[in-house]
Amino acid sequence: MTQRAITLRRARTNNLADLDLDIPRNQLVVFVGRSGSGKSSLVFDTIAAEAGYQLNETFPPFARNRLPKWTRPQVDHIGGLTPVIVIDQRRIGGNARSTVGTITDAWTYLRLLFSRLSEPYVGESNHFSFNDPIGMCPTCSGLGEVVVSNVEQFLDLDKSLADGAIMLPGFGNGGYWHAQYADIGTFEVDTPLRDWTESERQALLYGGQAAADLGQKLPKEYEGVVERFERIYLHTSDNLSERKQDAIRKFTRSEICPDCAGDRLNQAARTVTVLGYTIGELSRLEITELVDVVRRIDEAGVVPVVAALTARLEAMVTIGLGYLTLSRATTTLSGGESQRIKTVKHLGSSLTEMTYVVDEPTVGLHPTDVESMIDLLERLRDSGNSVLVVEHDPAVMAHADQIIEVGPEAGNAGGRLVFQGTFADLRDAGTSTGRALARERPLKVAPRRGIGKLTVVDASRNNLQDVTVSFPTGVMSVLTGVAGSGKSSLAAELVEQYSAVVIDQKPVSTNRRSTPITYTGIAPAIRRLFARHNDVPAALFSANSAGACPDCKGLGVIYTDLAFMDGQEVVCETCHGRRFTPEVLAHTVDGLSIADVDELTIDEATARLPDAGISRALHQLAAVGLGYLRLGQSLNTLSGGECQRVKIAKELRQADQPTTYLLDEPTTGLHLSDIDMLLRVLDSLVEHGHTVVVVEHNLDVIRQADWLIDLGPGPGRHGGSILYEGRPADYTHPATPTSTALTSTRKA
Ligand code: ADP
Ligand code: ADP
Ligand code: ZN
Ligand code: ZN
Repeated sequence: MTQRAITLRRARTNNLADLDLDIPRNQLVVFVGRSGSGKSSLVFDTIAAEAGYQLNETFPPFARNRLPKWTRPQVDHIGGLTPVIVIDQRRIGGNARSTVGTITDAWTYLRLLFSRLSEPYVGESNHFSFNDPIGMCPTCSGLGEVVVSNVEQFLDLDKSLADGAIMLPGFGNGGYWHAQYADIGTFEVDTPLRDWTESERQALLYGGQAAADLGQKLPKEYEGVVERFERIYLHTSDNLSERKQDAIRKFTRSEICPDCAGDRLNQAARTVTVLGYTIGELSRLEITELVDVVRRIDEAGVVPVVAALTARLEAMVTIGLGYLTLSRATTTLSGGESQRIKTVKHLGSSLTEMTYVVDEPTVGLHPTDVESMIDLLERLRDSGNSVLVVEHDPAVMAHADQIIEVGPEAGNAGGRLVFQGTFADLRDAGTSTGRALARERPLKVAPRRGIGKLTVVDASRNNLQDVTVSFPTGVMSVLTGVAGSGKSSLAAELVEQYSAVVIDQKPVSTNRRSTPITYTGIAPAIRRLFARHNDVPAALFSANSAGACPDCKGLGVIYTDLAFMDGQEVVCETCHGRRFTPEVLAHTVDGLSIADVDELTIDEATARLPDAGISRALHQLAAVGLGYLRLGQSLNTLSGGECQRVKIAKELRQADQPTTYLLDEPTTGLHLSDIDMLLRVLDSLVEHGHTVVVVEHNLDVIRQADWLIDLGPGPGRHGGSILYEGRPADYTHPATPTSTALTSTRKA
């Protein structure tokens, strides 16, 4: 007999408090609750994890070893599960070889078409693969771009060699390579580089050739600064540490590959055509246009390939991604776009009785686009699946068959079922979601006036139509428009022309040792506190020092990289995840070892650690709503929205010069009631004299902005124009997607 519900008994993963719950199957169920209340712990870490675990168990042991390992959730009983498909916002990949074409398999079909039809005939379909040596451009190895020296940044002409005129890491006075330039008797060590001759500067940078003009002998083995920099940092097969990469970033830049002009393919694959188009040209068409070209291919031999490709492309148009191109690197996609791409893979699927687990599908979507996303979720449900969605957007809640709220608060004060029922009932439920829904959110009463303005002139990046527009300084502006209308492109122009600081949702760090406190710079103060209380050196408490567990090197886990899958980690058996040697753990502050401190939440640590400086610093993390994070929680476990808030907290700590901050959808992952907190933080940045520009769809944030710039009207080449600039309250006409959304909810 089939079960009508997914049943959980005594779930206690992360902060879940012995939760009992029956979730109806074959319905659209929306999970709500404050950030950190336990929604992900319930839906992803318990339900999806158990389903993944059970599925793995059905494979023979040799196959199981090759599958991602699921940690079995902490729960007494789960019944009524069907196979789970997780559609999260994790960006599709840090892999430069992955494009919209490769990730959706559209490229595979296109390659197949070219191998069958192209003029002149070339060969197998892998001749068109830029990930195969047989097809890739030899100059860029199929990456489409090459990293080159940004030589203009190498020297500070106002300084002499002795003052550290060579800006590269390791080249300044005291640096490892300094003597190779300063102590060879060739160059004037105390003269600012500006006063050198051009030939002298050229010789310093490039050696050999340029030195000949100098008529002055350089040592035989002399290596110019550029050559040496490229040898040790660019043309190296070693993986550079994250710190080194950061340090050299401003001295390099990526350029479109001079050989293939970004097409990634070798000469042969680049030149052949189908219907007069090269494969590179097709990959640069917007998908909406590409479908039309592909439909015109009518050779009998390729009918199934054309059908499969068209279906894939149409699915992308349906979910609002028709403005993308197949050549677009997946690393440049936003979290929301990545998520919709993943959804495409399942749309055409004929599987039923699946459980789809979807994380905040409205991220990156304008209210108008949200409607099509809801359609999509309902279609998945109507084809006989269970759809479980974690979401903060009331529009999605309104379409739910059932709403489940986890709460009442975050962390240890959450993890319980506080509401289960319909949207209508939730409004009266008095829970934090219910109260937030019932509350009126007014327009800003007194918008601030700008102090000055930052004018972006003739912007034509991507789809922008020669846009000239001014961002007032000293206020909060919001940039709106449907997905693909050009918001990020305009924001990128602003950043380029006025060097704004970007606070985005990209992972904070790829370093597994990074935690909220190492990243925001609080960790040294905590180590000093331990040192003071125990009269030992502070370095002892660093996970990079001799005090660290020798087996896991202070990571607490042993990590194995697997070639094609997510890596695996297991808790270190020597230190049981406590990261330090027993000697170090014996040192305590207020009865807590350094490992105990890692286990505290930010809120708990603020109360417990006897140090005003630390409390103040921790307060910045609490102020952005992250008080529920544990101090030692690896930043790798944070969601995009949480990463962004960690970055805001860091900026709050070091706000001195008036700065322009650009934030991309800062409400991601935030509960309705946490949006006030976010607005307060943004306000405090503005109060400190900074300029804040947010790309945002959330109507509450839009209403609270001082200034609004709306782009559109449509996505891709149908957008890219300014529809409105002015105060949000005055945006009542013309009728655009944004003005309509603003006015309709105002009346509601
Ligand atoms: P939500 O999805 O509602 O924002 P989460 O389920 O992510 O909340 O988090 C609930 C609590 O569990 C938080 O206190 C969070 O810090 C903690 N938590 C989340 N993931 C982990 C993890 N991998 N290890 C330990 N604690 C975690
Ligand atoms: P929004 O931020 O409003 O969603 P974008 O500025 O990201 O819109 O995109 C506007 C247009 O520019 C879209 O057609 C998009 O596909 C294109 N585009 C955006 N980024 C890139 C890029 N890195 N390379 C090529 N095209 C891009
Ligand atoms: Zn190339
Ligand atoms: Zn260890």
